[in-house]
Amino acid sequence: MQLPGGLVENGMRQRCWAFRPISGGLELAVAEVGENAASTPQAVTRALALALEHLAGETPSESRVAALCVADRQFLMRELDRHLGFAGGWLHVGCVGCGVTFDCHLDYAELPVQEAGAGYPFAAVEMDGRLLRFRLPQGADQEILAGLPEAQARPWLLRQLAQEPDQLGDTNETRIAAIEAALESIAPGVVLRLQSRCPECGAANEIELDPYRVLSRRSDILLQEVHQIAMHYHWHETDILALPRTRRQRYLQLIDHARGMTG
Ligand SMILES: [Zn+2]
Repeated sequence: MQLPGGLVENGMRQRCWAFRPISGGLELAVAEVGENAASTPQAVTRALALALEHLAGETPSESRVAALCVADRQFLMRELDRHLGFAGGWLHVGCVGCGVTFDCHLDYAELPVQEAGAGYPFAAVEMDGRLLRFRLPQGADQEILAGLPEAQARPWLLRQLAQEPDQLGDTNETRIAAIEAALESIAPGVVLRLQSRCPECGAANEIELDPYRVLSRRSDILLQEVHQIAMHYHWHETDILALPRTRRQRYLQLIDHARGMTG
């Protein structure tokens, strides 16, 4: 599936991308990025730069990944979660109405994706009789925003997004709302919330879907697996991590058999 927005370089919008094949090395790298990055936007940039084989046909450098709009990054992070083996599953929901816990099935492949509107990545807003253009926020903006105090964040972002910042003049709440609405109307998007009705009391429950869920993967189990294979076969860590996951799992089964633990 193509990027819902796309990378715009030299006036050209390109939407193709591909991930590298899964190996232990990729799984470990993504887990370590999640464990070590200073902020979520930085972790997203690093994880995607590691996981992508190409972005718009060329090297997925961190600066190109950071130039993707927010929705494209969320889309790719959810795709990365799927690529690494999480396709969805049963969510346990504590009902806001009656407190009962019920199960709700989630399938990533069925979640709709909103494609970008005409004019992407720019939206125009009329201010003082002039038409001013603004672009959608990107990963690079989010990385800087993560380190700014909240009071400074909005005015700073507005200046970044304005294509004619010197003509921006006074920005009051009404104008900010108009800019946000214009950007919202052309923005691509992924599903971040699901509605699920409680089977007991009928209350509508809102379920938050973290688009960056893949960053909460931990390296513990993978390292345990590498450890077992290394102990048994005396292979080098790099070689074990280079194995496709299916083959790594097969060796682990063989080790289990050899020890008489199963079958
Ligand atoms: Zn209920």
